[in-house]
Amino acid sequence: MEPEHIKCLIIGSGPAGYTAAIYAARADLNPVLYTGIQEGGQLTLTTEVENFPGYPQGTQGPEMMADFRLQAERFGTDIRFGYASSVDFSCRPHKVIIDEVKTIFADSIIISTGASAKWLGLESEQKYNGFGVSACAVCDGFFFKGQDVAIVGAGDTAAEEATYLAKLCRKVYMIVRKDKLRASKIMQDRVEATPNIELLYHYETEEIVGNGHVVEGVRIKHTETGLSQTLAITGFFVAIGHKPNTDIFKNWLDMDETGYIKTQPGTTFTNVEGVFASGDAQDKNYRQAITAAGSGCMAAIDAERYLALKEHEHAKAAKAVAV
Ligand SMILES: Cc1cc2nc3c(=O)[nH]c(=O)nc-3n(C[C@H](O)[C@H](O)[C@H](O)COP(=O)(O)OP(=O)(O)OC[C@H]3O[C@@H](n4cnc5c(N)ncnc54)[C@H](O)[C@@H]3O)c2cc1C
Repeated sequence: MEPEHIKCLIIGSGPAGYTAAIYAARADLNPVLYTGIQEGGQLTLTTEVENFPGYPQGTQGPEMMADFRLQAERFGTDIRFGYASSVDFSCRPHKVIIDEVKTIFADSIIISTGASAKWLGLESEQKYNGFGVSACAVCDGFFFKGQDVAIVGAGDTAAEEATYLAKLCRKVYMIVRKDKLRASKIMQDRVEATPNIELLYHYETEEIVGNGHVVEGVRIKHTETGLSQTLAITGFFVAIGHKPNTDIFKNWLDMDETGYIKTQPGTTFTNVEGVFASGDAQDKNYRQAITAAGSGCMAAIDAERYLALKEHEHAKAAKAVAV
């Protein structure tokens, strides 16, 4: 297969990737975007999205991502189904292998490969995903206002999400496998001081129970006594961590200990010139569609300015040689 040389390669088709594509296409960078296996990204896993500005009545996640795609296409983005299987950032233009067979040389690269929520792996969790089961309290807590919910997890994110839910919900059961939380002391104190959070230590989730349409409870088992009980809840939140989809960049880009790509503060610059990172792949803090889209916009602007500067430098060098 013939190698291809392009100006701007965007990897990923979530809110970050499509927003980068809209900006890059309108800046005449002729972007090529590879969707990856999960076309449309994480929002295709959910139903209602009510917090993305511009949709006053809310919208469905998959529909919203179809709109993103249409807008990126409207300005001429070349959208292709395929995944980046490996990269080589030692040379310039940078080299990216697609689907293990096709070579792309790119003058600039925008990484928007997102992150994946970790799940417990229960069949019932999958069945009710989007119908009472969620991996994002900030996204979905609102739907359970005044109701009883449960959250599973013991780290900082779980503690943070439990206190967030406690402000909206009547009661929050926090299911913890061990005898203590892993969260920082300050977060533990906040959880313990919140009257409507009930900590359930030594419990694991056996099954999410429902009526076939929505969640009605969760069956939990005490890890020491083996006794099970069912809590009546309408929302079940999984907060056991996220994994950024950044494995292929490991030997090239600076990352934190969990694999989130490090960017220079206030920009999308990575440690490699011409490679920019946006969205959840570089953000373990906010993890929202709007912040991902915002950083996709930043990445396209950073890439455009970088390419303009390189062009200017080349022109200057060529002029100097001619003189
Ligand atoms: C169930 C659920 C509900 C949510 N609800 C909301 C909500 O209501 N509101 C809100 O603001 N946020 C919500 N979020 C969070 C939101 O979905 C994410 O913050 C957002 O999608 C991140 O966007 P992203 O573009 O960075 O990455 P993602 O959406 O994760 O997209 C990553 C993209 O990269 C692609 N990719 C990965 N690896 C490769 C590769 N090697 N080569 C090519 N492509 C690759 C994938 O195919 C995918 O297209 C929710 C998340 C979940 C899981």
